Amino acid sequence: MFTKLLKYKIFNRSKSEFMDYIDKFSKINIVSGNPEVLYNGLKSEFLMKNFRGSSTVIIPDGVGTVLACKIVGTPVKEKIAGIEVMETIMEKCTEEGRSIYLLGAKQDVLDMCKKNLKKKYPTLIISGTHNGYFDIDNCDNILSDIRACSPYAIFVAMGNPRQDIFIARNMDELPCHIYMGVGGSFDVFAGKVKRAPKWMISLGLEWLYRVIKEPFRIKRLISIPKFLLKVIIFNKKQTI
Ligand code: UDP
Repeated sequence: MFTKLLKYKIFNRSKSEFMDYIDKFSKINIVSGNPEVLYNGLKSEFLMKNFRGSSTVIIPDGVGTVLACKIVGTPVKEKIAGIEVMETIMEKCTEEGRSIYLLGAKQDVLDMCKKNLKKKYPTLIISGTHNGYFDIDNCDNILSDIRACSPYAIFVAMGNPRQDIFIARNMDELPCHIYMGVGGSFDVFAGKVKRAPKWMISLGLEWLYRVIKEPFRIKRLISIPKFLLKVIIFNKKQTI
């Protein structure tokens, strides 16, 4: 069910198997494991502890992670996109009458995201929202609001590593069942950013589309070869 990748365990079955798998957890942190997130995790003991914890499951989000799992000889069944898992969780929450909380993005993006989600899932309970621009070292008011709303799932869209630090610091104290860092997903639901066309996604070129649309991302791509290199070196040492 998992591929061992450096210090991580990556879920290696299908998305529907993943949805069944997480049902048995009373509390779970879903990490969209793209190379940038995994590479940053290697540099932070605090994040690593959370990523390796028993309440965290890492999904292979990104063609770089899929390739890395192939390199170590235990390929994943499919790439699992975080935004698609988020959609499925929202569908399930709608069916089951469970609530969600949206934390992150700029206020106008968050408002538009909420409006569009209400259009897409009219009976989905969005019990609370807060934008992502606050001091994560002093945010008792936000933590109190989340506690008061007591959502089933909280989606944190503040980019990596900020969203992962927020979740790792607070998930034990908060009452939610599902915690998930969702990066730029609120921007997608707000209609501000488009996902790549299906043909590009199926060819594993979503990263290229994002760089063409937002060229500032090019700097961040460097973590893909850096991460793959670490995987190749580690794998070689294991087989010698
Ligand atoms: N963001 C935030 N607070 C911050 C920095 C960023 O809420 O202090 C938001 C930003 O507005 C955007 C989201 O984080 O909506 C995701 O950023 P990015 O696209 O970098 O994430 P990725 O999808 O690449 O992980």
